[in-house]
Amino acid sequence: MNLDGIGVTSRRTRERLIAKLKDKGIRNAGVLDVMRSTPRHIFVDPAFSHLSYEDIPVNIGYKQTVSQPYVVARMTEAVLEAGPLNRVLEVGTGCGYQTAVIAPLAQEVYSIERIKPLHDKALVNLEQLGLTNVHLLHGDGSLGYAEKSPFDAIVVTAAPLGVPNELLAQLAHNGRLVIPVGGPAGQELRLITRHQEQFVSRLLDHVRFVPLLKGQVTN
Ligand code: SAH
Repeated sequence: MNLDGIGVTSRRTRERLIAKLKDKGIRNAGVLDVMRSTPRHIFVDPAFSHLSYEDIPVNIGYKQTVSQPYVVARMTEAVLEAGPLNRVLEVGTGCGYQTAVIAPLAQEVYSIERIKPLHDKALVNLEQLGLTNVHLLHGDGSLGYAEKSPFDAIVVTAAPLGVPNELLAQLAHNGRLVIPVGGPAGQELRLITRHQEQFVSRLLDHVRFVPLLKGQVTN
């Protein structure tokens, strides 16, 4: 696998995406650098290579998508606002793109995916990138991962109808949860910050994610 990319996945194509992210308001230099160096083309089916560096979600099978780069950047930037991240939980690994973007910006990343073939795909993708601080789990992440809590950041990449209390409870003091909330017609991307037992919620954007579903799928 060519990690640098050629033609439609080349450095120049990636640079255009970074320019677009800046235009849309992404300012965090660390986030922009990681997005520049992350080969999004390895996360999409070769038939869709030409869409890898477009600012759009791309299908990955199983009725799921690899997230839109702008949304990945926005979510990552939001949880990094308060400073460096030690322990991060992601719910909804998909094929691992958001995981790959946040991993270089945190000490440890735990990521849970309910669909086994996608979890397997993410394992292969992230191994190729040599990321050693990522721990992928197959299972239902809607209740978080209490054993490894508290988390400095929880990034949810599938949408529940309401914010699960279990996720709030697993935030560290000053911890941040970024989560799309709402139904299939569209959701509010919310940033929720914990101050002791108080939770402050801020609207970041309007987005459209796949739903957060219960249970796990084995094939
Ligand atoms: N983070 C991915 C986004 C993948 S789409 C990226 O960067 O591209 C969202 C993913 O959330 C899907 O793969 C879906 O299967 C998964 N998902 C939905 N509900 C879940 C749950 N309860 N636990 C874990 N994963 C879930």
